[in-house]
Amino acid sequence: MKFTIKLETEFSWGETRSHEICTLERRTLDASSEDLGLCLADAKSLLKEIQRALLQDQVEEIGEIARVCRFCGTYLAVHDRRQRRIDTLFGRVTVEVPRVRMCMCGLPGFPTLKVARSPLTRLLPDHATPELRRLQAELGARHSFREAAWLLNELTPCARQNHVTIRNRLATIAEDIADSELPATTEADQHSNPSGVTVFLDSAYVRSRPEYQRRNFEIIVGSIESERREKRRFGLSVIGANNPRAYLRRNLESAGWRDGTAVTVLSDGDPALPRLVRDATGADVRHILDWWHISIRIRHVETTFQTLFSLLDDPVRLEVEKLVQNLRWRIWHGQTARALDAIEVLFRFGMRVRRQTVGRTNDAAFSAVARTMELQTYLEYNRAALVDYDLRRRSGKAVSTSRAEGLVNDIANARMGKKRRMRWSPKGAHRVATVRAAALDGRLGKGQLRAA
Ligand SMILES: [Zn+2]
Repeated sequence: MKFTIKLETEFSWGETRSHEICTLERRTLDASSEDLGLCLADAKSLLKEIQRALLQDQVEEIGEIARVCRFCGTYLAVHDRRQRRIDTLFGRVTVEVPRVRMCMCGLPGFPTLKVARSPLTRLLPDHATPELRRLQAELGARHSFREAAWLLNELTPCARQNHVTIRNRLATIAEDIADSELPATTEADQHSNPSGVTVFLDSAYVRSRPEYQRRNFEIIVGSIESERREKRRFGLSVIGANNPRAYLRRNLESAGWRDGTAVTVLSDGDPALPRLVRDATGADVRHILDWWHISIRIRHVETTFQTLFSLLDDPVRLEVEKLVQNLRWRIWHGQTARALDAIEVLFRFGMRVRRQTVGRTNDAAFSAVARTMELQTYLEYNRAALVDYDLRRRSGKAVSTSRAEGLVNDIANARMGKKRRMRWSPKGAHRVATVRAAALDGRLGKGQLRAA
């Protein structure tokens, strides 16, 4: 059995042309599973041939239409024809593009200048289509560069990819994102009083390549939220970005922040994080300790004490148990002083049990004391950033970067976490974090990227 696949072109001026794309033969007698339908290799060459025919005819029509002056209707001369390579997801195609002489009708009296231009320059300033560029960058941000190249080579008929082509593309896309135009100010932006933006911040460490004289460096991940705009995520390496302050500021502006807008930063205890936002905005920011990070530390105290209580037959136990039960409530309601008093009692109780016991109970008391001290230090160190979380939650405000925990994984760890055993340069990691955040927001496909 034989199949012939043909493509019919109908030009705007009525001319038709037929391209024979390919022929396929399939056995029907003694047919095997490979004889059924299209296989990947067939599909890839089919797509490539269709793309070639389509582009050649399209360029021909675009070139022909460019020959008619839009102002006076003169039919212009073709200066020359140039071979032009176009990289697409469905193959690298070389087309012949006419360069058309410019019409002199707008410049009367001028001697005829022999200026020619290619009609494709405006359409495709880069040699690659936006779709291919986006996929190269997005796959490179999701997988290792080698894996991304393998996926593209395996599944599409695009020109041969390798880890370098993917890495370079990701780099140019990351630069594009860094200097992409800000979204236009909307009507709502001008008339409404900015109600403030909330920035959730967290960070992760990635392994450094040996030549940077350090084991790890930090990737800061964040999400900026305001009432009027969609949430905007970003990833940033302070040492890898060209200008981290300007980068963060641009992200804030894209999320609706303007000079004078109140900024609230929710983060764990690291003072460097709110300071970064303060530097980027040039204004004071309100720092609130993220509830999620506190909650984990309270959980540690709760579980270690539960273990300890299960091993104890102490009459004081019940009283202390109540304190543990109330601890979370006190901190949640902003009663920091009372919480710290309770922590002090827990600490003393744990120490007493340690002195009086041996073996498993002693170990359990040690863990409980250690976790209590951790929580105490954390709360005391960040006391200025503790608030009445209950009140905040009830007034509809954010209390937690629980989403930031997901952010750390999405933007940093999934691609650059220590388990991946990869080493990074700060610049390379910054680029990957930039592109991953844009991909998560769905900004990569939205034409927010200029062609390079
Ligand atoms: Zn003209």
